[in-house]
Amino acid sequence: MKNEFSFADSPDTACITCCHVLNENSPILYVSHDEDGCWQFLCSGQHSEADARVVSLADILKIDNSMAVLTELDFGEYAEAESETSDWIVRRI
Ligand SMILES: [Zn+2]
Repeated sequence: MKNEFSFADSPDTACITCCHVLNENSPILYVSHDEDGCWQFLCSGQHSEADARVVSLADILKIDNSMAVLTELDFGEYAEAESETSDWIVRRI
């Protein structure tokens, strides 16, 4: 597993995660790269706006280094995994 920062965006790019990932160690199972460039890294649960937390891309890699495999996600694509061990499935939003 490589450690250098591999996203095309800068490490301090703001992105969205949820309180479950941040506070409850839930696995990240949904990653989207919106058309406007916004990244979201969420667990598999249901989310309301109150659950959203703003962190940096560097923080996300600190939480889960395996997110580095998703750096190639294009604008308007999202990736979903059924569990921490399953493969990511990439779709258009
Ligand atoms: Zn969540």
